[in-house]
Amino acid sequence: MSQHPLNPATPASEVLPADLPSGSRGETGFLERQILVLLVDDQALVGESVRRMLMTEAGIFFHYCSNARDAVQLANELKPTVILQDLVMPEIDGLSLVRQYRANTTTRDIPIIVLSVREDPGTKKEAFAAGADDYLVKLPDRLELVARIRYHSKAYLSERQRDEAFRALRESQHQLIASNTALNVLNQKLADATQAKSEFLANMSHEIRTPMNGVIGMTALLMDTPMTEEQRDFVETIRNSADALLAIINDILDFSKIEAGRLELEQRPFDLRSCLEETLELLAPKAAEKGLDLGFLLGPGVPDWISGDVTRLRQVLLNLVGNGVKFTSKGEVIIEVIAEESPSQALPGSVALRFAVRDTGIGIPADRRDRLFRAFSQVDASTTRQFGGTGLGLAISRKLAELMGGRMWVESEPGQGSTFQFTLPASAASSPPASQAAGFNLGGRRLLIVEDNPSIRQVIEQHAAEWQLETTAAASGSEALSRLIAGEAFDLAIIDAQLPESPGSRLLESIRRLPAGATLPVVLLTHSRRAPEGAPSAPPTPAVYKPIRRRQLLEAVCRALGAEAPTRTPAGASEFDRSAASRIPLRILVADDSPVNQKVVQAMLKRMGYEPAIVSNGVEVLQALQEGAFDLVFLDMQMPMMDGYEAAREICRRWPRGKRPILVALTANALQGDREVCLQAGLDDYLTKPIRPRELEGTLARWADPATRAGVIPSGVGVAP
Ligand code: ADP
Repeated sequence: MSQHPLNPATPASEVLPADLPSGSRGETGFLERQILVLLVDDQALVGESVRRMLMTEAGIFFHYCSNARDAVQLANELKPTVILQDLVMPEIDGLSLVRQYRANTTTRDIPIIVLSVREDPGTKKEAFAAGADDYLVKLPDRLELVARIRYHSKAYLSERQRDEAFRALRESQHQLIASNTALNVLNQKLADATQAKSEFLANMSHEIRTPMNGVIGMTALLMDTPMTEEQRDFVETIRNSADALLAIINDILDFSKIEAGRLELEQRPFDLRSCLEETLELLAPKAAEKGLDLGFLLGPGVPDWISGDVTRLRQVLLNLVGNGVKFTSKGEVIIEVIAEESPSQALPGSVALRFAVRDTGIGIPADRRDRLFRAFSQVDASTTRQFGGTGLGLAISRKLAELMGGRMWVESEPGQGSTFQFTLPASAASSPPASQAAGFNLGGRRLLIVEDNPSIRQVIEQHAAEWQLETTAAASGSEALSRLIAGEAFDLAIIDAQLPESPGSRLLESIRRLPAGATLPVVLLTHSRRAPEGAPSAPPTPAVYKPIRRRQLLEAVCRALGAEAPTRTPAGASEFDRSAASRIPLRILVADDSPVNQKVVQAMLKRMGYEPAIVSNGVEVLQALQEGAFDLVFLDMQMPMMDGYEAAREICRRWPRGKRPILVALTANALQGDREVCLQAGLDDYLTKPIRPRELEGTLARWADPATRAGVIPSGVGVAP
């Protein structure tokens, strides 16, 4: 439609350009608010009169059409905001035009004012029935016409705006639904990928753990045979490397477990001090190599026993202290445990603990600190080469701290050191009967502490205060000597063997030359298990190894003072308890398809004095149980012919509880969930490969204990046929 029957009398300026892009009217904006009147009337005089009436009106544009045939199409194109329609036209009846506007999609909703020559109720009725919105007798009063034009146009425009808004809303709704669907698909993909990753890691861990079982098991057995020093050194290196490899596998496994939400925490009472001591003990050799001091301090109000997951707490502490030792070349790594003010509404017995692990190491630049806790990230790439590590330690530690209900953060001064802290909401637990602490009295003895490191001094002072010793601290050998020369009397001295100015042994010689020091009992604190350099060989000076363990220090102090030391169980050098079989007599069957694993378990059990029978799959297990009596079966879970799960189910089906042996799973899968699967299959216990002699023995001891069996086996029924 290009030709418009514009009345020549209509000035172009009052007419909206017909070739205006039609879309621009659909948009909200300047044009949207314009009123556009289309007058359809065959009388040019009427057209001219209306034009004049509207000429001075701001914001009203006028278009006149004299030809009824073109009216609908023109309206279609112009999209007026109101139509003034003459009722009586020569070619077409005005009413039929009204009906045509209404039937047309574009013009359907445009307000129509019909212009009639007279006020006639019959015509009016017909006009409204045809779809008109208003009725005027021509020529109407200017004011009235303008008012009606404005009223209808505005109503129409706001309606269109509302429709437009609705349409936009619907559109964004559709878009939202579409992107939601896409997101769901992506989420599902991600979940699948995570699942696949977890499974891959679990499988990989299984694959690696199986041969590791051979390596670690055989090294443990080898270490228990006569060897030259050199051979022992080699074997220890193999063992350490295997342990390091296993630690990496465990890290990766832990990380995937946490990510998959499959890590569950224990809630059991444990001795906090032992947990800290064990942690430091594990890192002592490395710290000693570098001459670093390790220690821990317990603040007031920290309970001795708390309830929680000791393994995971130890893991976090090991990580943080391990890092501290790794990134510190001089000074100390100290764990401080602080009991924070609990909120008043806290449960009785609950205590908010904060652990701070501070070192005097290289520190961490401010801009690198938040990256630390991300998986696989290290402060800088060269770290990996210089110090080793997977970059998983802190990510796991923080996640574990969060799982335990706390949070973890770091403060650091580059070149000065770092402090990693985490909180642990805990509850105090009652300690088991304290048989170990009884039977010594050191109260009132005067102790001289000679130690240059203030943190370690504080550690010793803390212990000494607990034992009611009176302490005097000296930061150097010369300070200690001048106190002795000045006549201060002491019952005992604890001397750091690695004082910076002179070795503790030389200080000891000087002390011995003084009248007050000739017979002074002395305990030396030393990093290494070798005798301190130049130490007088006879009589040997009692030594305590750093990091200080409360029990060792107490024993050394008691020995030096000739006091009664509390008894303790001797720690055997061998990992194997050769008398296990005579203490815990059990008839054992081992089922494993791998010849290496068979050999490892068999040899370990033999060292303990057992004579286990060995089979290679589930079918053979059932056969063996038919033919002979067993108290306990170790079942590898993955075996050909019949695997461990099926064998366990079959055993449970054939023999009632109490008539069947204890079933212990041997599995290389360390993922949480495996345990449940094993227990569901009817197994009583669970051992993860690589198998360690102590864990093996622990399992045997547990099941030999009637109390354990009572939990499983109805009383009055013996074990095995
Ligand atoms: P990794 O197993 O590589 O040590 P972590 O997650 O434990 O991984 O540590 C990540 C990085 O954080 C380390 O490589 C090191 O750059 C930095 N870092 C951690 N602890 C310390 C610390 N005590 N002092 C300095 N840098 C540290």
